[in-house]
Amino acid sequence: MQTPIAPVPSSQTVFISGASRGIGAAIAERLAEGGFDIWLNYHSAHDQARAVQKKIEALGRKCLLLPFDITKIEEVSLVLDPLLEQEIPFGMVHNAGITRDTLLPMMRREEWDQVIDVHLNGFFNLARIFSKVMLGKRKGRIIAISSVSGETGQAGQVNYSAAKAGLIGAAKALARELARRNILVNVVSPGLIDTEMVKDLPLEKMLPMIPLNRLGTAREVAGLVNFLLSEEAGYITGQVLSVNGGLYM
Ligand code: NDP
Repeated sequence: MQTPIAPVPSSQTVFISGASRGIGAAIAERLAEGGFDIWLNYHSAHDQARAVQKKIEALGRKCLLLPFDITKIEEVSLVLDPLLEQEIPFGMVHNAGITRDTLLPMMRREEWDQVIDVHLNGFFNLARIFSKVMLGKRKGRIIAISSVSGETGQAGQVNYSAAKAGLIGAAKALARELARRNILVNVVSPGLIDTEMVKDLPLEKMLPMIPLNRLGTAREVAGLVNFLLSEEAGYITGQVLSVNGGLYM
């Protein structure tokens, strides 16, 4: 028997961390096109966040700007606790990220700590609070944005590779914890995507390693996130799905 497919599930809101620009902003816009309202977190890029908000509102959807540092557990609670008493979003996308690239012998302890903090402690701070409220609803989707570096390891990125690999382990464990309550947890793993994050990389050396021979677009990552939030993705959990032009197979 075929189950009917509804484009947007009953709760229409998705929280996205780090959505003032790049991949997060593209996810916010793509989801808004699909009918979702957005809780848009970012750190400090107010003008860019407001520009994304305008685009979402032009699509007829709501967009709540939530500027806070996801590494600060008290800030996270202070902002989210009162909101979660009013509404429990259907989805949570942990996308915020930073790089502090350098070879390990030269890496300062703070460069290690900052990267682990945003990716992994940020995931803890957000996923803990969202999974708790989703459990009560017996419904929800959690998506972590990892990276090809977390799957293969990348020279100059011991901190970032560790953080992104850690996210994969955390998401798989959480998927097992939450599956019985109908909450699905997956990882999207982009390769090289055309955003500010890659602007200083030696692309002429890197492009030949990518079978599709080009950078990916943020929109191409956003399309997969949109799918993972759809009814059609209802039997997918604990998976790592790559958008990498064949860079890692
Ligand atoms: P960008 O550098 O373009 O954007 C990063 C976003 O994260 C910004 O919105 C930024 O906010 C936010 N952010 C950073 N630190 C914090 C914090 N402490 N609290 C809240 N928000 C924060 O990155 P991309 O769009 O390129 O990357 C998005 C995700 O995709 C990251 O997790 C990244 O690791 C991953 N990824 C990217 C790839 C690429 O090639 N671009 C490849 C593989 C993975 P603000 O603007 O306010 O500072």
